[in-house]
Amino acid sequence: EHIANQIAAGEVVERPSSVVKELVENAIDAGSTRIDVTVEEGGLQLIRVKDNGSGIGDDDVENAFQRHATSKILTGKDLFAIRSLGFRGEALASIAAVAKVDVVTSTDGSGLGRRLVIEGGTIKTFEPAQSMQGTEFTVRELFYNTPARLKYMKTIQTELGHISDLIYRLALSYPSIAFTLKHNDNALLQTIGNGDLLQVIAAVYGVHTAKSVMKVKAEHLDFELEGYIGKPEMTRSNRNAMSWFVNGRYVRSFPLNQAVLRAYHTLLPINRFPMVVLQARMHPTLVDVNVHPAKLEVRFSKEAELCEFIGSTLQQLLLKQQL
Ligand code: ADP
Ligand code: MG
Repeated sequence: EHIANQIAAGEVVERPSSVVKELVENAIDAGSTRIDVTVEEGGLQLIRVKDNGSGIGDDDVENAFQRHATSKILTGKDLFAIRSLGFRGEALASIAAVAKVDVVTSTDGSGLGRRLVIEGGTIKTFEPAQSMQGTEFTVRELFYNTPARLKYMKTIQTELGHISDLIYRLALSYPSIAFTLKHNDNALLQTIGNGDLLQVIAAVYGVHTAKSVMKVKAEHLDFELEGYIGKPEMTRSNRNAMSWFVNGRYVRSFPLNQAVLRAYHTLLPINRFPMVVLQARMHPTLVDVNVHPAKLEVRFSKEAELCEFIGSTLQQLLLKQQL
């Protein structure tokens, strides 16, 4: 059974940033307003995610590490109407199969909670413990029992790059959550969590960038569009600063990026790209988030209409700005 868990884990836990993603998404699902992420050695030595969310109750802690025990999927139809970030119920089981995990959690403000230690899928400790309301996950020595996987890890800088990109995107998509990211005691990001997206843009891209953006807010039939786009004179050499969020979830979308680039087309020098941070909202039945296992790619059932709406909204805004 451990072997099966390790094999399945390979699909969920590809590298340190996959662990950070699952833990932070769980913290978001738990209603947290503050999430602190600490990593050491690119996350290979240690990943700690501390939140102030709902916590995990006595009866649920062990269950949370059972594969599919928590799966929220009931019928195939539900796949098209997913509202929370987690829905497969296998992340914690997968992480625990390939690392040493320590969880301290409490569901109330009593100061008391519980602690579970699980290593390579085996429960080592389950005991009462002092805890603030919320959950603190510490994941040590990732892939310690799967040396073949460990060999595929890149440099600390590369692994850290994946983690910081991920936390930047999550901070951008949840301006009402206060995020911090620390690597080996260096503070890499701190957001206030007061709901102001412009403050997050300043924290992620710098104050200078935050001063050269235009606000976007529009709605049309099935869609709402909201966020900021960079003025055309502030360009970037690649598409990395084009971030899309669909119903709160970061996605990679070629068609949505193309719609943006069409709106800017005469305004940008060749091979230059704008900075955009845009959120599209629509009824969950209009998005299929299950196209890609890592849930980064999506399919829209009204893609042409959506792209048309994005294109015309941004074009109008850019025209107005030039007058
Ligand atoms: P999923 O998120 O798909 O349900 P996971 O394996 O990621 O599956 O998590 C299992 C369960 O553990 C969650 O459904 C949730 O009930 C609980 N859980 C995990 N992390 C947290 C957290 N930070 N705060 C509260 N509950 C959590
Ligand atoms: Mg989850």
